[in-house]
Amino acid sequence: MLIDAHEDIAWNMLAYGRDYTHSAHEIRRQEAKNGSRAPELNGNTLLGYPDWLRGQVGIVFGTLFAPPKRRQTRKWEGPAYADAEEAHRLYRQELDLYHRLADEHPDQFRLLRTRADLNAHIAEWKQKPADAPKPIGIVVLMEGAEGVRTPDELSQWWEGGVRLIGPAWAGNRFCGGTGEPGPLTAEGSALLAAMDDVGFVLDISHMDPQAARQALEAYAGTVIASHANPAALLPETDSNRFLPDDVIDALAARDGVIGIVPFNRFLDATWKPGDPRLPLEKVVEHIDYICQRTGSSRHVAIGSDFDGGFGVESVPAGIDTVADLQKLAPLLAARGYTNDDIAAIFAHNWLRKIKAILH
Ligand SMILES: [Zn+2]
Repeated sequence: MLIDAHEDIAWNMLAYGRDYTHSAHEIRRQEAKNGSRAPELNGNTLLGYPDWLRGQVGIVFGTLFAPPKRRQTRKWEGPAYADAEEAHRLYRQELDLYHRLADEHPDQFRLLRTRADLNAHIAEWKQKPADAPKPIGIVVLMEGAEGVRTPDELSQWWEGGVRLIGPAWAGNRFCGGTGEPGPLTAEGSALLAAMDDVGFVLDISHMDPQAARQALEAYAGTVIASHANPAALLPETDSNRFLPDDVIDALAARDGVIGIVPFNRFLDATWKPGDPRLPLEKVVEHIDYICQRTGSSRHVAIGSDFDGGFGVESVPAGIDTVADLQKLAPLLAARGYTNDDIAAIFAHNWLRKIKAILH
């Protein structure tokens, strides 16, 4: 099994009406036929039920995401929020979409909310042949906590199925974020304390490094970076979206896991749309960097961010859909990674983190 820690499924359903019960190719065909603006704004889709199944992607962290209106660019021209009230409404709608997806297609999708859900899910995947139809497990991850109006509503989000929270996307009232540096605020500290009480995973992706360092000091619970690449391999950019070495070290010291994003611009900062796609080996370089830095294969995994603002045009050559993430296995093996290492990177590292918070 492969676990992907970051896919913007609900956002695409809400903004573009993408129907992920179909294959990525079928969705592309339909969007071309209907003149959908999704391919132009968000790229051609990389996701679809048959593709998850083919790639043995048994568990996905499905996000709740919407951009703030002040940061809306062309690719985020869909639903956006001006304040916490609007953010709350959009995030609620997206959570409902995951519930509807699982309720209406229980043969294809299943929300994982408890340890019993997880155990049953893994048992079914182990027991059935690789190509046999079975549901994809979704664990809900809130990307950007603007939808949380006050910390005391966190228990309602937990009840609704959210299990991981990344406080930031852009900067917000909680902390500095991508493109908007800054520390953890008093409101951010209060949010973290309440998240810790309920038992969420803290996702530091998109937090400004200064805020991430403070959060890693403050948060006693489980910590990860669901989708973030090492800054050291992206020397041409001074973007605060990537992980400095000391933040990687701090995450590893807390037994954290980092999901590498196979997005060309996050693999080589000089890459621009229209350039030749990068070799898949680039993804292995980023995985290998974390392993070398932290001394083992325990702290790195995949967080594809697929359909999160880019499509098939912007991922390395050889990836046509999410199913092709499996092509990383032989490349890792060629670099000397054992089967156990590959299983850790593909699934066991994320599994360890999910198990820590599912009861
Ligand atoms: Zn993101």
